[in-house]
Amino acid sequence: MKVLVVNCGSSSLKYQLFDMTDETVLAKGLVERIGMDGSILTHKPTDKDKVELKANISDHSIAIKMVLDALADAKHGVIRDMKEIGAVGHRVVHGGEKFSDSVLITPEVLKGIEECSEMAPLHNPPNLLGVAACNKLMPGTPQVAVFDTAFHQTMPKRAFLYGIPYEAYEKYGIRRYGFHGTSHKYVSQRAAALMGQPLEDLRIVTCHLGNGASLAAIKNGKSIDTSMGFTPLEGLVMGTRSGALDPAIIPFLMKKEGFSADQMDNYLNKKSGVLGISGVSSDFRDIENAAGDGNERAGLALQIFVYKVRKYIGSYVAALGGVDAIVFTAGLGENSPTERASICEGLEFLGTRIDPAKNNIRGKEQEISVDGAKVKIFTIPTNEELVIARDTKTIVGA
Ligand code: AMP
Repeated sequence: MKVLVVNCGSSSLKYQLFDMTDETVLAKGLVERIGMDGSILTHKPTDKDKVELKANISDHSIAIKMVLDALADAKHGVIRDMKEIGAVGHRVVHGGEKFSDSVLITPEVLKGIEECSEMAPLHNPPNLLGVAACNKLMPGTPQVAVFDTAFHQTMPKRAFLYGIPYEAYEKYGIRRYGFHGTSHKYVSQRAAALMGQPLEDLRIVTCHLGNGASLAAIKNGKSIDTSMGFTPLEGLVMGTRSGALDPAIIPFLMKKEGFSADQMDNYLNKKSGVLGISGVSSDFRDIENAAGDGNERAGLALQIFVYKVRKYIGSYVAALGGVDAIVFTAGLGENSPTERASICEGLEFLGTRIDPAKNNIRGKEQEISVDGAKVKIFTIPTNEELVIARDTKTIVGA
């Protein structure tokens, strides 16, 4: 079966076409600036040259049409007809408490996703636009929703409830949901495979460190805690997001700066994190360079980030009652030997030590702890698209 994986943002759309007989990627690409001037489709068929197609891409439906045309194009296509696509898997950010697993999209499921939009106003509506566009252009082709939140639905109440009146949970669904679920799931499965042990016997801390960043505590293959919360703002200091802070700071700043609720939200989501601390950039590469050039605030931003990750690892080891493996993934986790080493400095008491020579890699799946370490450390490139394609195949096959 060929599965098209679609990840729709408000003005962008990423896709990958998988041949699920051997899980190979036939083509992948990106549509940018949907609904704006200068919209463009970049299409990369495996084993063929990349093509860039500029057009007036005014909505997601036109974007999907261009993707389908590119996939079936005589020159740079990889299939003869779009009827070869057996199913579409959609990344959906928020599934609330309604969805604890991936599901075949039906009118009832669409309603459920819509109801979760309030909790992810920037993400769920464009995800739904992608579903609507595929419904229109590929009627009859089954579509599956794979949720960022679903993997964390196994968290117990003691981990997902906040210390506010219980009615807030009952009335508004205010609780920890957690995100990056497909990534935490994938890398924990890979870690178990690399260790040659059943995932059901392992305690793993997974560190998804990208522009958005979160950790998960995974016991016997199930998420028991994670650092992102009601929204993807909680937890670690990220590229532009503050992460957890004393909630009293919010009304204090709103009064002092005269911020509206939206302005406050923007301040915490877009102007904070390592960008806000360093004043340099949200990109860790720029911050590492600036810190190397002696920029003190850039150095401080890195120290704060590293310290928080290390503290979360420690707390998750306590939550798990021990640890067998720690995994680093996503942009920074996969590509920065320096930050990985800094994070693990002082974790030797757990029975682990990074091997500097093994750690000197980028974007590769590898154990990076010293030989014979009781607790293994891995870098594992994440592959959320593959998880989506696998779930889609399983659900449609069933
Ligand atoms: P992601 O959100 O997973 O795409 O990750 C993006 C983040 O990863 C950006 O902040 C990048 O700075 C960071 N990143 C990517 N490559 C590197 C690298 N070689 N060294 C340090 N950080 C990196």
